[in-house]
Amino acid sequence: MLLLFLLAAAQTDTVRYTVSFPNAAHHEARVVAEFPAAGRDTLEIWMSRSSPGRYALHEFAKNVYDVAVTDPAGRALPVIRHDPYRWLVVGRGRPVRFAYTLFGDRGDGTYSQIDPTHAHLNMPATFAWASGLAARPVVVRFRVPVGSGWRVATQLVPTSDPLTWAAPDLAYFMDSPAELSDFRIRSWTLVAPGGRTDTIRIALHHQGTDAELDAFADATRKVVAEQVAIFGEAARFDHHLYTFLADYLPWASRDGMEHRNSTVLTASGSLARDADPLLRTLSHEFFHSWNMERIRSAEIEPFDLTRADPSRALWFREGFTSYYDRLAIRRAGLLSDSAYAAALANVVNDVVLSPGRRFSSPMDMSLEAPFVDAASAIDPTNQPNTFLSYYTWGAGIGLGLDLAIRGRFEGKSLDGFMRMMWERFGRPVRRYAVRRPYTVADLERTLGAYTRDPAFARDFFERYVRGRDVPDYAGLLAQAGMRVRPAHPGAAFAGPLSLAADSGGTTVSSPVIAGTPLYAAGVEQGDRLDTVGGTPVGSDAEWAALLARHAPGDELPLAFHQRGREVHATLRLVPDPRIEVIPMELAGETPSESQRAFRDAWLGRRS
Ligand SMILES: [Zn+2]
Repeated sequence: MLLLFLLAAAQTDTVRYTVSFPNAAHHEARVVAEFPAAGRDTLEIWMSRSSPGRYALHEFAKNVYDVAVTDPAGRALPVIRHDPYRWLVVGRGRPVRFAYTLFGDRGDGTYSQIDPTHAHLNMPATFAWASGLAARPVVVRFRVPVGSGWRVATQLVPTSDPLTWAAPDLAYFMDSPAELSDFRIRSWTLVAPGGRTDTIRIALHHQGTDAELDAFADATRKVVAEQVAIFGEAARFDHHLYTFLADYLPWASRDGMEHRNSTVLTASGSLARDADPLLRTLSHEFFHSWNMERIRSAEIEPFDLTRADPSRALWFREGFTSYYDRLAIRRAGLLSDSAYAAALANVVNDVVLSPGRRFSSPMDMSLEAPFVDAASAIDPTNQPNTFLSYYTWGAGIGLGLDLAIRGRFEGKSLDGFMRMMWERFGRPVRRYAVRRPYTVADLERTLGAYTRDPAFARDFFERYVRGRDVPDYAGLLAQAGMRVRPAHPGAAFAGPLSLAADSGGTTVSSPVIAGTPLYAAGVEQGDRLDTVGGTPVGSDAEWAALLARHAPGDELPLAFHQRGREVHATLRLVPDPRIEVIPMELAGETPSESQRAFRDAWLGRRS
């Protein structure tokens, strides 16, 4: 009976969870965790403080209560709440049963949402785990409400029971969100050059129509094909299966969260209304199946669930992914050249005009993530003047690097660099495992190897990654027959401003940006704006009309109240610094043959 013995041993080795939903209307789940003997007197049980793919602390223990700790026979065991996130159980080396109620009502990529329509479960937000057992296999059984029709969509490993799922260890389990609902499925197969096949599927829980899902799946298929063409293959999913777990529901919150073989896509909107931005998030998260999940920063491998997981590489991990999410949609033919150029202009304006660049490089800005990535605290920050998102800045670096490589190295591009990163660091050699986590120094070395010009790589990193320069976008985009020119020639500019009017007057409701005329005049968010140029300004429209009557160089007397004091100042208008990017042909010019070829190689279809 050796086989039976081995099976029994394997079973007693396993961490088992059972989750049921006896009070879904009030957003509660009941979770029972059964931890095998850990070989130590005291078992340390955690609720995670962070979640894979997120960078801030989320403190999931705040929604855990009604805790009951027993041995397998149901006898109570002594337990100490050691700190806000840890329970210490004196189990004397025996198995421990840890049961609790979980509250969850946020449907996004970090948290869990339980209600009569679904259980949207992010594992760190849902399941307690025990120190010392991270390498043990995990089995979870979902007890769905009777008559709910709920099925399970997840990257967890299936078993013979459709409601029981497995994971090889804690890290994979925590990386594997599950959607329990009556969702709709669309799927298709990718065939790689060597014959390998992978299935992509969308599991969508929404209130829209099947026709909307069909159209979305069709667009997804095209975008996925363009991304696969960049790397030459799909990201070698561990079970030849990748799942988009989408919840587009009025009670969900807008988010996207990448995982190794799946991604969570959530939004309060619908496919009928928001298909374009929802497709962009989808494109972003799928690109992460290479650039994040497998081309993986050493800073997050392994991911630490007990603290924030900071990184200096988010300009690459998130920023280059942002560059490619829209580029893949453009290459799929779902965005025109002019719409793509307009989006590039937004990136260039945000990067060039950001006052945040005064203080930090993209590497240092990456370290701000725990303060901005779904992080919340009650004290105000000066982030509008000190922070430039690593998504935006990184997308700007990606754009600059792609165009610089294309202009300088015949037949090469950022696509080729990404593929070399995939081959050197990403392409898995074992199931569930990262091949070789990279460092920022590895990125620079690989760029030098790919271009065969280490001096170029060193200079680029020195100026744009460790430094705070911005590439010459006008010169780089001209190669593709795209013109960079003032978006509002001759217009006067005072800085971004939003106004809120009520019976007490007109209040500045937006942050005032450093380096703008409004900032120089001493105006601050919350000030009451009395008169500009001698006349009251009661709305954003009146403010815009007033600016339109003036020219750069005009000086306007300004009267406002700041913290109860009356202030008189002078507003000195400047030329509007914002640029636009437009294809030359729309500016009445004819692109040359080489400009056309450059643009086609960059933006044309690959798949
Ligand atoms: Zn991302």
